[in-house]
Amino acid sequence: MTMEKLRRATKILDAVTPLRIDCGRLCHAACCKGEGEIWLLPGEEKLYANNPGFTVKSYETEQGTNSIHVICKENCWFNREIRPFFCKIFPLYPLIMVDEYERIRIRLVLDPRGGSLCPLFSRPEKITRTFQKKVRLAVRLLCRDPEMLTFFRESGDFLLAMEELKQQLISTEAPWESL
Ligand code: SF4
Ligand code: SF4
Repeated sequence: MTMEKLRRATKILDAVTPLRIDCGRLCHAACCKGEGEIWLLPGEEKLYANNPGFTVKSYETEQGTNSIHVICKENCWFNREIRPFFCKIFPLYPLIMVDEYERIRIRLVLDPRGGSLCPLFSRPEKITRTFQKKVRLAVRLLCRDPEMLTFFRESGDFLLAMEELKQQLISTEAPWESL
């Protein structure tokens, strides 16, 4: 995907927040506290490569692909425009399905990594329709690119597997409790 298209898609989210008011002002930006490490979209790392406030890191996955992240230090909670895409859509995450007619279906879920810090997990009905609509629109535009579509599908599978494992651990008596 060209940088121009990536910027256009992520810009859709510059002026919206999950609530009608900026939720960061209510929780003192709980999701930006301390040093954070955020997933980046394919190609998004170029936007942060020369920004001294961010450090880009790359990990090799078990599948042999690169997983690109950025490390931040509370440096953009007050500025939505420079946020990485996944911070712009937090606390939502899109699960992507492609039906038998190659149509893309987007299911928005709460990002399971944020449950311990984001107060909206207890009141998800407060997340506005406008915010959800813009997230869907941005994701749909990004998914026109095959690499991006693969990325969303694989990262969604990863998060689902993580959530399933978490649920299993919660419902199983943990053996280490007896130590
Ligand atoms: S933790 Fe949740 S409520 Fe607080 S700023 Fe982040 S998304 Fe908004
Ligand atoms: S919005 Fe900025 S400061 Fe907050 S977690 Fe994301 S990258 Fe870090």
